[in-house]
Amino acid sequence: METVSVAPKVWTRDAAPAEKRNVWTALTRGLRGRCPRCGEGKLFRAFLKVDDHCSVCGQDFTPHRADDLPAYLVIVIVGHIVVPTILWIETDYAPSVPLQLSIYLPLTLILSLLLLQPVKGAVVGVQWALRMHGFDEQNPTE
Ligand SMILES: [Zn+2]
Repeated sequence: METVSVAPKVWTRDAAPAEKRNVWTALTRGLRGRCPRCGEGKLFRAFLKVDDHCSVCGQDFTPHRADDLPAYLVIVIVGHIVVPTILWIETDYAPSVPLQLSIYLPLTLILSLLLLQPVKGAVVGVQWALRMHGFDEQNPTE
């Protein structure tokens, strides 16, 4: 027979309710390249390099795990802009292939580069708001 022992619940400082984190606010702050917590400090120290911590509120950014998600999201977004544009121009105007390539390739490259940093910032902001990975100070080991 198995006995289950239930440890008595003891209120500690760690058991205090965690601060509320708004996902939309954190996402928009990340889009602007700002700290998802305070909205003031910079999130990036280089083009795609997330800073170690916020210079204003001290929020630690090292637990973020954006990995390849921003790149996938940028591919989806840019694809949904460029492909319909290509189909529309091809069916309505049918310009020469070299002319089309001279427009679509730079357009794809420029849109991708413009969107990468904001999308990565948004991903880090959402991870912070949802307490993913190490952003949960109640359980910092994850
Ligand atoms: Zn901050």
